Amino acid sequence: MSDRPTTTTDAGIPAPSDDHSQSVGPNGPLLLQDHYLIQKMAHFNRERVPERVVHAKGGGAYGVLEITEDVSQYTRASLFQKGARTESLVRFSSVAGELGSADAGRDPRGFAIKFYTDEGNYDLVGNNTPVFFIRDPQKFSDFIHSQKRRADNHLRDNNMQWDFWTLSPESAHQVSLLMTDRGTPASWRHMNGYGSHTFLWYNAAGDKFWVKYHFKTDQGIKNFTAEEADAQDPDVHIRDLYEAIKRGDHPSWTVQVQIMPFEDAADYRFNPFDLTKVWPHADYPPITIGRWTLNRNPENYFAEIEQAAFEPANLVPGIGASPDKMLQGRLFSYPDTHRYRIGPNYLQLPVNRPKVPVHTYNKDGGMAYYNSGDPVYAPNSVGGPVADPSLWAGDTYGIAGEIVRSAYTLHREDDDYGQARALWEKVLSDVDRDHMVHNILIHANAPEVTGDMKPRVVEYWRNVHKDLGDRVARGLGVNGS
Ligand code: NDP
Repeated sequence: MSDRPTTTTDAGIPAPSDDHSQSVGPNGPLLLQDHYLIQKMAHFNRERVPERVVHAKGGGAYGVLEITEDVSQYTRASLFQKGARTESLVRFSSVAGELGSADAGRDPRGFAIKFYTDEGNYDLVGNNTPVFFIRDPQKFSDFIHSQKRRADNHLRDNNMQWDFWTLSPESAHQVSLLMTDRGTPASWRHMNGYGSHTFLWYNAAGDKFWVKYHFKTDQGIKNFTAEEADAQDPDVHIRDLYEAIKRGDHPSWTVQVQIMPFEDAADYRFNPFDLTKVWPHADYPPITIGRWTLNRNPENYFAEIEQAAFEPANLVPGIGASPDKMLQGRLFSYPDTHRYRIGPNYLQLPVNRPKVPVHTYNKDGGMAYYNSGDPVYAPNSVGGPVADPSLWAGDTYGIAGEIVRSAYTLHREDDDYGQARALWEKVLSDVDRDHMVHNILIHANAPEVTGDMKPRVVEYWRNVHKDLGDRVARGLGVNGS
């Protein structure tokens, strides 16, 4: 008698064999009544949920956020009070590739964190770059389509990417960062994370501020060159993070915020809600508020990482949304994709479920596990949960205007190229610039990039900086260079 447990059906019934199906005689057809066989095949057919349309390939871990400084004058959020320790989950990812794509390819990286706070879950769903390619969600699905696969041959197509980028000059800042070696980080441990959007913070007295988050890697920035990235194992990043945590080498990030007084937003030199722009550090210096450390691997990748669901709409008291149009679009689209991809009760899964009790009048739906029970409606006179009107004032502020379809109103120094130019002129070293030009040329010299497209690519980079454009022109063999 073996001391190993007996296999069972998913209903716990002991299984007679993992080798042989039930058949009519040893050589005859199989029987539909072999429930154990049917369950194995049917469950196998359903092992995958739809992969994420964006950020499909990723990995993650658990960690803790520790707040070391007092920022109670800016936010009442309990997770940001000095001394607070908050359990969290992160999922790092690439953006454009599919579930089995190579980790090291040129792409921004997702940097999505869920904080299990004592006032519900707070999700900060950022990237390893502080800006993004577009500033209006109207363009989002088109942008992603241009980065993914063609309709006819199902191939990715650099011509399509340059077509979109050159027709969308607001992309120049993010494409500049993407074409530096930060577009190919050596590991998830060696990159910064940014909340990217501007958020609202408000304190216990109701004073309001605008905030941007920066997670600065304590491991130091480390990138691959284009050639090094090409040579990597496709799972290099997921393996690196898992192995580091397993050997007790716990990566950490210094958490910083930039704080803008609420009133500054109206006439700040850049539109502070435009996702294609940073707030220069000299204007709003980053303030260190704590440290975030990853210390535990998931035990079941599918249950804890593939089914992890992050949503920028999970904002706890003390934090609110800003009028950033991309953020506004994401407040809807993230929970919507989770309802489709995982199901309406995705928040009941252990990895997504808050650590605090949930009292909701939402009920039922596929795979409902927790149920708040009766009463099932509000208002009621039978003791059900009631909402807290003291929370009303927190994330409110005045906005007036006509209903329009319009670009943002430009602030004094708003344009599409200025901050990309600042990157080239004052931040990148000579080596960084050489690599950026090299990386652009690899991308724009791909065989599918047409002769008509190349002058557009040159023009795009000349708008960022003449030297950069001239070097790209020479490398692409564009006349007049
Ligand atoms: P600063 O000189 O004060 O800061 C420049 C920042 O750029 C650095 O602090 C660093 O931020 C980041 N950086 C350094 N090297 C590189 C690199 N090789 N590739 C990409 N980023 C790098 O200048 P400003 O704040 O006035 O910003 C100038 C430009 O720097 C911006 O237009 C933007 O392109 C870029 N930048 C600015 C950030 C910001 O939040 N202000 C953040 C990141 C880039 P970090 O340590 O966060 O990487």
